Amino acid sequence: MSDTIEKVKCLIIGSGPAGYTAAIYAARANMAPVLYQGTQPGGQLTTTNEVENFPGYPDGITGPEMMIELQKQAERFDTDVRNGWITKVDFSGDVHKVWVNDEKEIHCETVIISTGASAKYLGLESEQKYLKLGGGVSACAVCDGFFYRNQEVVIVGAGDSACEEAHYLSKLCKKVTMLVRRDEFRASKIMAARVKNTENISILFNTETDEVLGDEQVVTGVRVFNNKTNVKHDIPATGFFVAIGHKPNTDIFKDYLKLDETGYIINVPGTSKTNVDGVFVSGDAADHVYRQAVTAAGTGCMAALDAERYLAAKEH
Ligand SMILES: Cc1cc2nc3c(=O)[nH]c(=O)nc-3n(C[C@H](O)[C@H](O)[C@H](O)COP(=O)(O)OP(=O)(O)OC[C@H]3O[C@@H](n4cnc5c(N)ncnc54)[C@H](O)[C@@H]3O)c2cc1C
Repeated sequence: MSDTIEKVKCLIIGSGPAGYTAAIYAARANMAPVLYQGTQPGGQLTTTNEVENFPGYPDGITGPEMMIELQKQAERFDTDVRNGWITKVDFSGDVHKVWVNDEKEIHCETVIISTGASAKYLGLESEQKYLKLGGGVSACAVCDGFFYRNQEVVIVGAGDSACEEAHYLSKLCKKVTMLVRRDEFRASKIMAARVKNTENISILFNTETDEVLGDEQVVTGVRVFNNKTNVKHDIPATGFFVAIGHKPNTDIFKDYLKLDETGYIINVPGTSKTNVDGVFVSGDAADHVYRQAVTAAGTGCMAALDAERYLAAKEH
């Protein structure tokens, strides 16, 4: 542990759209924000080629380029952007203590958590290969469905989100094949019924993915197997969507903040406030519904404004 403890007015954890937007607002409000990027500088968008739905980019932009621009905008107003991973926090007192890489200790007047969430994947070698190639594997129908207009796609999952995503895809794609591992949905009856009643969604129960097929560049199909009979068959598809859930990056906060059963931080509705005064949350770390860059940025703005008002009220 280091001997010198740094004091910071506003500490932002995470460098996705939520963290950088919080930084832009906090910096312009003279809060001298310090932002730790974590192991994924730029956040989830750095893993995607095309972002076409973030306002202000009429021709689209690649995820990494967009995140470099957001970082530059945050730095233009003197945000102190640093490398480092927050490994531990202590939110039990008036001063919020945070440790970077298990070494450096920082005492913060306010903390903005923008640590995001990670999509879960099946973990198959072929799935990861085409995910890395940007060749047809996705964990976000709203983000990527548009690229598969009038094409045939496969989606894996059985919960409410999977049903919602399958239904979303059905409006864009020629055919959606949904793979459900068990002999029934996990989703609510109403969501399951919506999927069952959609003409161009075909549901295969007791069916799992054996391999994502491709031509070494893009996905061309999915080999599936029936887990009762072990019979395999191939489904032609240009897109493979995985909708088996997300894991919010919130483990280090669980002793202090209220989390839901999946680990999403519970905020006071309509605000970015958490159950601890001076600790705010933005982006996917608290959002299991929208999970978009623009909503993350919007809540990043809210968190900085809430933090600024909290400090102003404390001073008076
Ligand atoms: C492949 C893919 C494509 C997508 N395409 C689109 C799209 O086209 N349009 C769209 O709107 N959305 C898209 N999304 C969703 C979008 O990326 C997310 O909604 C958005 O990035 C969430 O922003 P965030 O700032 O909350 O978190 P994230 O972007 O997840 O960033 C989290 C940040 O927190 C940091 N971090 C985590 N834990 C710690 C820690 N302990 N210490 C320090 N730092 C930490 C990470 O390093 C990272 O920088 C896509 C997502 C994926 C995965």
